[in-house]
Amino acid sequence: MRAVVYRRPFEVAVEEVPDPRIEQPNDAIVRITSTCICGADLYVYEGRTGAEPGTVVGHETLGVVEEVGAGVTALEQGDRVVVPFAVACGFCRNCRAGSTGSCLTVAPAGRAGSPYGVAPAPRAGGQAEYLRVPFADANCLPLPAGTDHESDYVLLSDTFPTGYHGCRLAGLSPGGTVAVYGAGPLGLMAAYSALLCGASRVFVVDRVPERLARAGDIGAVAVDSSAGDPVQQIADLTGGEGTDTGVDAVGFPFPTETGEGGEPAAVLDQLVRTVRPTGGLGVLSPCVRRGPDGVAGDAGPGTLPVTIHTLVEKGLHLGAGRADVRRYDRQLRDLITDGRARPSFVVSHELPLDEAPDAYRAVDRRADGYTKVVLRPDAA
Ligand code: ZN
Ligand code: ZN
Repeated sequence: MRAVVYRRPFEVAVEEVPDPRIEQPNDAIVRITSTCICGADLYVYEGRTGAEPGTVVGHETLGVVEEVGAGVTALEQGDRVVVPFAVACGFCRNCRAGSTGSCLTVAPAGRAGSPYGVAPAPRAGGQAEYLRVPFADANCLPLPAGTDHESDYVLLSDTFPTGYHGCRLAGLSPGGTVAVYGAGPLGLMAAYSALLCGASRVFVVDRVPERLARAGDIGAVAVDSSAGDPVQQIADLTGGEGTDTGVDAVGFPFPTETGEGGEPAAVLDQLVRTVRPTGGLGVLSPCVRRGPDGVAGDAGPGTLPVTIHTLVEKGLHLGAGRADVRRYDRQLRDLITDGRARPSFVVSHELPLDEAPDAYRAVDRRADGYTKVVLRPDAA
């Protein structure tokens, strides 16, 4: 089959690789019809995750079940499904508690969670014609048959539930206010989720005009951080009070005006200052261990100097971690099916799989107009 393969830092290629096959009785093989490029894929692309050359990348997938193992009971050939970005067994203590992003069964000892197409515990990714899905009954969410809303449903794999997760981590409730830092696809999904959850006011901080425009389009208040301290701007807009909650959806490192470098801790520190005393923070940005040049943040590998004094003094609570996709995906799917949610407004490009190398380059450079790319392995 054809698949997008990591070659070396800043290079992926579309290559022929062996077809995946049923390895365990509870596996399914899914023929991929839509698969997104994610901000997290850029960490692999930039060589920051230690992925082995030859790794099939990608973790956001939607497709049609091609084959099931003898132990699969809830799926059959021809079912249209979306697959969460991380594998969950469905029966470990974390999965049983709903924390499917932190499955213990599929990760190395002492770790939790195992996404497709990245280290640790590398498993083949889904930017390919086919994907092997382990524990298939637990990892495939059925979708309405047909081809409707491909670019909405594929976002159920990661971006939509992860944005929603940010709001949940922060403790947002109806009528509450939230400041979302970062208006990339994830930040926009956090803002969109906040509005779906009944937030009274949603502030979205970024410095890229077209991203801020999209935030405004969905009903959020765009805060241009290049026009002055965003903390002060939000304070001014909230009568000096700050917001009830905040979500960090910026990524690492925070790009400066020139697009590189930046202060990794700046966003988290700004959030601590933005949220009112006793409020909550949801931290979605993966603080990867190495910067693009192999150098980590100011204080060492994967660490950030945060003003913990202010966080403690304000009595803020902080939630972090991968989204538990299976906890949310049914409800979010049904919002799409019933026409209440159209998350595909973040999708800028729908391209054949063969255009993946150019698309990676463009997304990594944050080229104008590129936000979220959906690859179509079955397109010519
Ligand atoms: Zn993703
Ligand atoms: Zn599990």
